[in-house]
Amino acid sequence: MKLYNSATRTKEEFVPNHPGIVKMYTCGPTVYHYAHIGNLRSYIMEDVLEKYLRYLGYNVKRVMNITDVGHLSSDADTGEDKMLKGAKREHKTVMEIAKFYTDAFFSDCAKLDIKTPDVVEPATHCIDEYIKIITKLMDTGYAYFAGGNVYFDTSKLERYYVFNDFDAEDLDVGVREGVEEDLNKRNKNDFVLWFTKSKFEDQALKWDSPWGVGYPGWHIECSGISMKHLGEDLDIHCGGIDNAFPHHTNEIAQSESYLGHKWCNFWFHVYHLNTNSGKMSKSKGEFLTVSLLEQKGYDPLAYRFFCLQSHYRKSLVFTLENLDNAQTAYDKLIARAAALKPGDGVADEGVLAELKAKFTSALDNDLNTSLAVTALYDVFKAKTNDATKLAAIASFDTVLGLSIIEKADELRKKNAAPAEEHDERIEGLLAERAAAKKAKNYAEADRIRDMLAAEGVTIIDTPQGAKWKRN
Ligand code: AMP
Ligand code: ZN
Repeated sequence: MKLYNSATRTKEEFVPNHPGIVKMYTCGPTVYHYAHIGNLRSYIMEDVLEKYLRYLGYNVKRVMNITDVGHLSSDADTGEDKMLKGAKREHKTVMEIAKFYTDAFFSDCAKLDIKTPDVVEPATHCIDEYIKIITKLMDTGYAYFAGGNVYFDTSKLERYYVFNDFDAEDLDVGVREGVEEDLNKRNKNDFVLWFTKSKFEDQALKWDSPWGVGYPGWHIECSGISMKHLGEDLDIHCGGIDNAFPHHTNEIAQSESYLGHKWCNFWFHVYHLNTNSGKMSKSKGEFLTVSLLEQKGYDPLAYRFFCLQSHYRKSLVFTLENLDNAQTAYDKLIARAAALKPGDGVADEGVLAELKAKFTSALDNDLNTSLAVTALYDVFKAKTNDATKLAAIASFDTVLGLSIIEKADELRKKNAAPAEEHDERIEGLLAERAAAKKAKNYAEADRIRDMLAAEGVTIIDTPQGAKWKRN
């Protein structure tokens, strides 16, 4: 497979460090709010990458952190702590906020068929790892103590900017209003490894350390968590493009200075989901979540389908009109799959191999998901029996994650079920009974139930209201 590597700015043949196994690390969410559908675009595309590597036969070990401490409003280590901001907003503790939004994140992921990584590690669980790394960086002169905090000294590096083909907008460090320059820093790009002094004294979570009671910087968590679970080298590190600088740049700086050798081979960055007014971001306050899409009547998988139709290295503009089109196309796709007959012949291995070859050649070229979707549509046009087509769809869907087979089965069953009987008089009586119950007139409600029972009609109460059937 050829994969674009942000670190070398070229498409390279993907070869893992250790044969057969891929060590993959993903920057997880900062759990101070719901994930917006922009964040989830990154996780969907990373999920496709993981699933495709598995499809190719690799054994993947994927680790994700949960940022529950240390991520300040500006990625340049200034501003308010995002978790504290969330806790204040909702009058809860930081840990309550972290639990609530971590659960919400994985519930959204499940709706989008994003597999939970093999290891999910909250940043607050690995303080010893960070202290170990920072101690060595202090001992070897890569870090210094100033004004109560420990900083990484970027002037000690031969090369700091590793992803320097991004334009200024991509490298935007985040919210900058009201951000004061940190005079403790020796160099503009130095970053905090350990805080004991920050602008806010009411930091909720603090730990003892050789440099005083405090808390870790945001960048150190990903190096610490990755090394804890994946060891001293990494095949692929993923994240949204805004993470490339300064977050990933700083991760490389501290990890390689600590290890004394190269750390990660491939850097996989997903470009942003934008609205017509710019990048979708949590700090802007208003953003779309999976629940909001559901409330508007969309299937979360239609959003996944929408994301798959564009390449991960291109910015994607989101509008509800675009999503309407994706939902319509998704519904049609399911209807076409439902029209295939599962019992029609046995799968023709030769044709199946040809269909799969188109699919893999699309994804082998830097994960071209839109061409992979074209390969999926080609299945319907193939001159072969339905069993072969269904086998190809099931195979592709282990990567695409669109639940096509399950949804097609449901639709086939629904189409086969006899239509519900309608009777105006009985439905009128059910409405009268509902009104009686609402008015707490249970005697009247029971009278209607008994009257219908005498006619051989049973009322079934469901969360969607009362239904009826003839006995
Ligand atoms: P956060 O929860 O802010 O730490 O972000 C979680 C992930 O979403 C990171 O990998 C970000 O780079 C990514 N991300 C943030 N905004 C967007 C966006 N508008 N489109 C795509 N990915 C994003
Ligand atoms: Zn990270």
